[in-house]
Amino acid sequence: MFLAVDAGGVTSGVSLTEQKKIETVLLTHHHFDHTRDLVTLAANACYYWRNRLKVCGLCHTLDIVSDCLLGGKMYTNFFEYPHKEKPTVIFEAIEPYGRKTIAGYDVLAVPVKHSVPAVGYQITSSGGRSLFYTGDTTAGISDCWQHISPQLLITEVAGPNEYEDWLKKAGHLCPRLLKEELTQFHRLKGYLPRIIVIHIGNPYEQEIKEEVAQVAQELEADISLGYEDMKIVL
Ligand SMILES: [Zn+2]
Ligand SMILES: [Zn+2]
Repeated sequence: MFLAVDAGGVTSGVSLTEQKKIETVLLTHHHFDHTRDLVTLAANACYYWRNRLKVCGLCHTLDIVSDCLLGGKMYTNFFEYPHKEKPTVIFEAIEPYGRKTIAGYDVLAVPVKHSVPAVGYQITSSGGRSLFYTGDTTAGISDCWQHISPQLLITEVAGPNEYEDWLKKAGHLCPRLLKEELTQFHRLKGYLPRIIVIHIGNPYEQEIKEEVAQVAQELEADISLGYEDMKIVL
């Protein structure tokens, strides 16, 4: 079975056959661009497949998602449909620094800095390969480095360096801020994992690409930009 991390584009990016296999969604935070597809995913799960969907996240995140998206205001109340005793969606709260085994993976939730309560997830396979997905985050993320040792870091750069002040206020990273955090990672852990940057502000893709390439060169790091349908083998 599959594990999804956030649900911003999962129903447009993943085939129906693959969606059917998603049994758990881990949420980093409640922002709409990370949760909107929960409604479609839950609708497909209940109307097409009569599947159950487990959604994990901080209590704060789950409260908002329940109130605004899945509890009946936006669409069906997926906590009562098809039956109260057998609902489509079940929630499982995860504590900061909490650990769970989900879909065969060891999952560790590590708080990250953003404009709202948020966690990143270190996901480790039974073979010991692991990635850390920061979700949306900003300067100060290095507080989490001591808790993780991933082979792959998936993080964000929402805009180019010229918008550094605005991005910081909005809880995001630019290439320069990312460089500072990665420098801290190297200092603390003695290595740098492979890094994939996502959440790219579309109009600034070229600028971000060039600035990220500069950071990769300066740090002698393997940093690339994520793209749709990207497949990664760890
Ligand atoms: Zn956000
Ligand atoms: Zn976002």
